[in-house]
Amino acid sequence: KVPVIAIDGPSASGKGTVAARVASRLGFHYLDSGSLYRLVALHADLHGIDWDDEATLAQAALTLPATFCDGRVLLSGNDVDQAIRAEHIGIGASRVGALPAVRAALLQRQRDFRATPGLVTDGRDMGSVVFPDADLKIFLTASADERADRRYKQLIGKGESANLPQIRQDIIDRDRRDAARTVAPLRQEPDAFLLDTTELTIDQAVEQVLAWFAD
Ligand code: C5P
Repeated sequence: KVPVIAIDGPSASGKGTVAARVASRLGFHYLDSGSLYRLVALHADLHGIDWDDEATLAQAALTLPATFCDGRVLLSGNDVDQAIRAEHIGIGASRVGALPAVRAALLQRQRDFRATPGLVTDGRDMGSVVFPDADLKIFLTASADERADRRYKQLIGKGESANLPQIRQDIIDRDRRDAARTVAPLRQEPDAFLLDTTELTIDQAVEQVLAWFAD
């Protein structure tokens, strides 16, 4: 059986960075499952499809010509890595992610990433729904203040304007939506290790995941 490390947690917790580094250290494949939800949201945005149009979006989720190349996300061969990271696409992703038919359509696509020698994946329901038999499950989080701070520095670093109180409020609102939805709500699985990175560097978080995996 091909090993899977499932890392779930709230937005801006740093789970994507940690997951990608763990994958590279182990020579495993990496799946950023949020990018699939973001791709569906981007597709909706480009084609004027309503965020609530469940049947149309589920069909799109099944058939979107998405590929991943050198850590970048392509749609119909076009690099959309920047486009899917836009703030309003993140909000759209959390809207389309609340639709059961969209989640069902993305299920097999996500499972197809499980390939030798192994997979590290991050999202909201990797350990609960997509890979319930994962070899290691981690719930990676940090305080809302710390996550807002990290996101703020990231935006400033990219030369974008940013408003810290607004970012903090957006993070709290998104957490609430992701935890309150009826399908695949964000929560720590009983068999997941809790990794609170509020006081940890990325390197320390990576080492902790590797140590748990080696155990
Ligand atoms: O992780 P990221 O911020 O890219 O995810 C964007 C949105 O997609 C999240 O707010 C969440 O609502 C949704 N998502 C999800 N299930 C996943 C990954 C992301 O519902 N496995």
